[in-house]
Amino acid sequence: MSKNQKIAVSEYFYSLQGEGRTTGIPAIFLRLTGCNLICGGKGVEKDAVLRDGATWVCDTIDVWMKGTTLSFADLVERLDERTNFVQRLKTGVHLVITGGEPLLQQERILAFLEYLEATYQLRPIIEVETNATIRPLLALDARVQYWNTSPKLSNSGMFKPQRIDASILEWFSKNPNTMFKFVVTTKEDFEEIQTELIDTGWVDPSKIVLMPGADSIEQLLERNQMVAEICIEHQLRMCTRLHVEIWNRLTGV
Ligand code: SF4
Repeated sequence: MSKNQKIAVSEYFYSLQGEGRTTGIPAIFLRLTGCNLICGGKGVEKDAVLRDGATWVCDTIDVWMKGTTLSFADLVERLDERTNFVQRLKTGVHLVITGGEPLLQQERILAFLEYLEATYQLRPIIEVETNATIRPLLALDARVQYWNTSPKLSNSGMFKPQRIDASILEWFSKNPNTMFKFVVTTKEDFEEIQTELIDTGWVDPSKIVLMPGADSIEQLLERNQMVAEICIEHQLRMCTRLHVEIWNRLTGV
C-alpha cells in the first residue's frame, strides 16, 4: 500500500454511534461515495418521488452521490484536522466505515487500513455498515470487529434480486462479528423478515436487532412500543435511535 493510493470519500465526522449493538460508543464516521442500491426506488434521487412500493427514501442519498477522491495521506491529514483522527483511534474510538455501500471500494478500504497500520502503527476498532449484497474479502474480514449489516426489505423499492443474495446473507450469518439491523415501520415489515429471511435460514435470528423507522421524536415514541412488542414476542433484540432521541431532526451531529 502507498500514501498515494486513493479512496472516494463523501464526508467524515466525529460523534457517537447512534444505532445497533454499539449504540453510544464514541466513533469517527467515514462515509464513502457510491451505492449499488437506491432505496426509495430508482429515480427518487432526481425527483424525490417514491417508486416500486417504496415507503421510505435513503436519508444520505444527497451525501453519498457526491464525493472527492483523496490520497490516503490527504485523507488522514483532513481527518486529523477535523477529528483528531490518529489520537482518537489510538485511544479506542471506533472507526465506522459507512456509505452508500462501502464494500464497493473494499480493496481500497483494506489498503487504507494497511496504510494506517504501516504508517501510524494503528490498528483501530472497525465497524463496517453494509447492505449485505457484497461478500467481504477475507483479508478485510480479519480487520473488522463489527459487521453492521442492514439487508433491505421490499419497502425499499428495490427488487429482490438487487437487495437479497442468500449466499452472502448466509456468509454473514455464520460470521461471529455480524449483526443484522432491520428498520421496522409496520408489523408487515417484521412478517417479511420472518418469512423471507428467518424461515429460509438465511438470517440467524440471534444476530437480529430491530430498530423503529423514525426521523422525529414523535414518530420514534409512537413506534418504539410496536417494535418492543415484536421483540418480546419473538425473543429478538431491539435498539432505538439515539440521534433522534437527543437531536430530533437535526442532522450532521
Ligand atoms: S443501501 Fe443504504 S446507502 Fe444505499 S440507498 Fe439504501 S439506505 Fe441508502
